[in-house]
Amino acid sequence: MCKKRIFGTFGVRREANKEMNPEFASKIGASYGTVVQGTVAIGGDTRTSTPMLKHAITAGLLSSGCDVVDLGILPTPAIQYAVRNYYDAGIIITASHNPPHDNGIKLVDEYGIGTSDETEIKVEELYFNEKPKRASWNEIGQYYTNNNIINEYITEAIKRVDSEAIKNAKLKVVVDTGSGAGSYTAPYLLRKLGCDVTTINCQADGHFPGRNPEPVEENLQDLISTVKELNADLGIAHDGDADRTICIDELGNFILGDKTFTLVEKAMLKENNGGLIVTTVATSSAIYDIAAEYNSNVISTPVGDLNVARKLKEHDGLFGGEENGGLIFPDFIYGRDAAMTVCKILEIIAKEKKPISELIAELPVYHTVKTKTPCPDNQKEKVMAKIAEEIEKTTEYKLDTTDGVKILRNDGWVIIRPSGTEPIFRCFAETDNIEKSKEIANWGLSLIKKYLE
Ligand code: MG
Repeated sequence: MCKKRIFGTFGVRREANKEMNPEFASKIGASYGTVVQGTVAIGGDTRTSTPMLKHAITAGLLSSGCDVVDLGILPTPAIQYAVRNYYDAGIIITASHNPPHDNGIKLVDEYGIGTSDETEIKVEELYFNEKPKRASWNEIGQYYTNNNIINEYITEAIKRVDSEAIKNAKLKVVVDTGSGAGSYTAPYLLRKLGCDVTTINCQADGHFPGRNPEPVEENLQDLISTVKELNADLGIAHDGDADRTICIDELGNFILGDKTFTLVEKAMLKENNGGLIVTTVATSSAIYDIAAEYNSNVISTPVGDLNVARKLKEHDGLFGGEENGGLIFPDFIYGRDAAMTVCKILEIIAKEKKPISELIAELPVYHTVKTKTPCPDNQKEKVMAKIAEEIEKTTEYKLDTTDGVKILRNDGWVIIRPSGTEPIFRCFAETDNIEKSKEIANWGLSLIKKYLE
């Protein structure tokens, strides 16, 4: 049994040309190729190290006897789309929203879903202990390219919404792809939908000169001011690999991912007369309120888009997502998808004939407070166990240990989760009142501190 782990919650991310070098990438390619033994699609984001890693991984795959189809530079969901429809597996080269010096490798299975733990452990064993397969000279894989996926991905996303209604609405949209992979899709998608498009940071550039690839409010100030100056209907931002979508309303307000989720959820349930929703334990109660309105159920999973995608597939769910702007339309792609999210948001604005700020204001109101506190890695388990033990003794609160410790109170909830990559606990609290949420978040932090040595 291999003790050393390479893969985290979805793939591996490291500094380019340090740990994430061609030797490492090539051996990962050969190890995954040994498991797959079929046709593997490969593609990646705009990072400076992506071509280097792509060629190294390709060499590894070919050497294991797999055929490789190079899809070029494109969003993560476009690669997942291609694999689900045409190939046996995929490898995505991206570090999503990490800083420019990082890069990462994600493995996906035949459905385009991130590989299971068992598969990753198999790959790790091949990497560390057993040797990956090296095919004989006449069984080395073939190398192909496919440049059609970007167009097909855009066209297929558009097909799934009322594009005529969107075109007739003639929406003015400002889009900021942060020089990431969305630069190849988002502006074209918007123009095909008849929008009046202004682009910011839509030149692909692995140095990310315009802004940090993470679409948080502080990084989107140019987008916010442009939306206001142009009196646009909507601002859209993506992360580095364009699987997450963040919206700015027509007044220049940053819309939290939870709100976008709830807005799209409402439309999906309305159109489909209900359906199963899947989300993580860390998203807003508003998702449950909307589901209840349409007599629909919500399944909650541990944090991570993979968990949501797997549950959606397993239960044939309608829609799912996370609180960070990553929405999943399982009918299209088993993963967070930015193009479909943009299409859906535009369709909602066009059909409801209301500004997005009004549509957001109609949703259930909850206030989330997100905090964190340091905790050494070796104390995390003990602290969580102690908190759970204390809460279990009370009759006042309910406990949910799907991921970390979630404490359900009459007035709201607080979730305490250890970070998988940093020596910290994250503590999120939500109620219908901002002051109350702050109070409960502090209570959550005090529980952590109480059991820290
Ligand atoms: Mg991403």
